[in-house]
Amino acid sequence: MKSYKAPRSIEIGGNGGVKPLRIGGSAPVSIQTMWKSPLTGGDLESIARTLGGLEQLGCDIVRFAVPDMESADALVGLSKISSMPLVADIHFDHRLALRCLDGRVAKIRINPGNIGSEDKVRQVTEKARDTNAAIRIGVNSGSLPRDIQERLEAAVPESAEARLHSRASALVETAIREMEAFDRFSFDRVIVSMKASTVAETIEANRLFALRYDAPLHLGVTEAGPLVGGIVKSTLAFSALLADNIGSTVRVSLSDTMENEVIAAREILSECGKRPGGVRIVSCPRCGRNGFDVHSFVDRWQRRLMSMDRDITVAVMGCVVNGPGEGKHADIGITGAGDSVIIFRHGETVRTVRGALDPETVDRAFAEELDKL
Ligand code: SF4
Repeated sequence: MKSYKAPRSIEIGGNGGVKPLRIGGSAPVSIQTMWKSPLTGGDLESIARTLGGLEQLGCDIVRFAVPDMESADALVGLSKISSMPLVADIHFDHRLALRCLDGRVAKIRINPGNIGSEDKVRQVTEKARDTNAAIRIGVNSGSLPRDIQERLEAAVPESAEARLHSRASALVETAIREMEAFDRFSFDRVIVSMKASTVAETIEANRLFALRYDAPLHLGVTEAGPLVGGIVKSTLAFSALLADNIGSTVRVSLSDTMENEVIAAREILSECGKRPGGVRIVSCPRCGRNGFDVHSFVDRWQRRLMSMDRDITVAVMGCVVNGPGEGKHADIGITGAGDSVIIFRHGETVRTVRGALDPETVDRAFAEELDKL
């Protein structure tokens, strides 16, 4: 068994009304997503409400692209009205990082390698230190430094395994180079991500890094893909790494909604034993025996159930053939039964809604029984 370094603990947030959050150490693995539209100075209150909804789903951190001063100003404004720890994602222009650090932005994602001069790196580092912000170095396989990329292309690996190792090593070498730029200023509030677009490379790079360094790792598979493919790739990569206790914070990158990124991350962490508690939904796939539409019920209820601050299991089954039996362990369950719907607790029927399968009636009955839990 290889011996990986335990991640050091870094606390972010805690300024003004921003929720404090620990990354690394013995803290639970945190969940991130990224805002999917340009950030302008528009309706920041509405964005703050959306962030509140994401928080209820289990999201701990939200990152925003900051390509210009308008979005930096907007992020500063948002950081003053939202309790969510926010991250500014910046490339090239250190002045954007300095501006974001005027607010309560908890973390900056920026690579010293593309900021420019050492003095610019120093300015960002000093201001991050003064404002208790952390910095994430984000290394992607698609944007390695030219010398490392050229060396990689010139090499002729003897096997697929050797090729995988050299590509993963290139990610680690790039991350170390970036970390050293911060080491020069004794700044260690650094989180590192190394994202490759394949699962194997992502796992290998993070393992190689964790053998030698204790910077907390942000896990992600870059350009993971649409909903199903993206979740499959992220699940494979994260579960292998989390089993080795590698990974302090995760983002499931999907060509899909922020809500689904958060729910997917939450499910992965829960199944890996890294995020206890919360609402677990078990539901049947539905088949020709179904007496009620499991799919639409789950669609209507998933977000509401997962936003509840409860530690319960909810079963949604299509028919009585397997419904109450398979849902015996559930704190509450619902199943179709011919032209009726049965609501049960730990397999015992507590309510039967006869001949009324319209969604409103079913939802009302289920909500009333849920309230009694
Ligand atoms: S619970 Fe009933 S409807 Fe659902 S998959 Fe099983 S047999 Fe089919």
